[in-house]
Amino acid sequence: MLNHIRIILCQPSHPGNIGATARAMKNMGLYRLTLVAPELFPHVEAIKRASGADDILAHANVVQTFEEAIADCQWLFGTSARSREFPWPQLTPYEGAQKILSYTTVKQEVGIVFGTERSGLTNEQLQRCDYHLTIPTHPDYSSLNLAQAVQILSYEIYQRFLSLSEGTFSLQEADDAIDKATMEEVTGLLQHFEEMAIKIGFMHPNHPKKLIPRLKRLFSKAQLEKEEVNILRGFLKLVGKEQT
Ligand code: SAH
Repeated sequence: MLNHIRIILCQPSHPGNIGATARAMKNMGLYRLTLVAPELFPHVEAIKRASGADDILAHANVVQTFEEAIADCQWLFGTSARSREFPWPQLTPYEGAQKILSYTTVKQEVGIVFGTERSGLTNEQLQRCDYHLTIPTHPDYSSLNLAQAVQILSYEIYQRFLSLSEGTFSLQEADDAIDKATMEEVTGLLQHFEEMAIKIGFMHPNHPKKLIPRLKRLFSKAQLEKEEVNILRGFLKLVGKEQT
């Protein structure tokens, strides 16, 4: 179950935080780490802070873009201390952990995304996620250290996992008959929509008015299946042909 979960760090700047993340993960039974354009990696400081979790560093998947990191995820959870101006489905770590385990029980791939130390996740990255996870904090100081945020989320996941194994907690299981679309497929659909919306004059490229994030939010709510993505793309293709 836990093997269907990956932790994705976007542009981590301190190698120590990468090491501490690996340690936090291994303590809680998580093994899959993806690093998007890390500033310094591999690095001795990462190995030091990983302590006995350097195997996670050795197997880390290092990619250059956010797109590559999320491509084959079927669910994406973005973590952020601040709630953003554009409302998005927001969960506590406890609620998030429950959802994450219900998806992984039916073997769906889950990514949990963390932002860079300096500025966190961009609005654009957050709007690519299905849910936002926020660790409740004192309102005067809400930003945790990156690896500590990973620790808290991994902990919640592992506690739900233990309760499940002990039978003291049961999940509302996700539907395993659903062939959920991947982020790459949903991204392709969004790009196709954007292209067509501009082409038919439904959206002005300089004033997109949040059309694309709204559509993404709709697609997340609908839990789009592969087949549904194909239907919508087929439809858009014909709309495109009509216009030429
Ligand atoms: N300075 C940034 C915070 C970066 S902290 C900002 O103001 O947004 C690095 C990362 O740790 C964040 O991008 C987020 O992924 C995670 N994080 C920190 N505090 C968090 C919180 N309270 N809830 C959820 N994630 C948090």
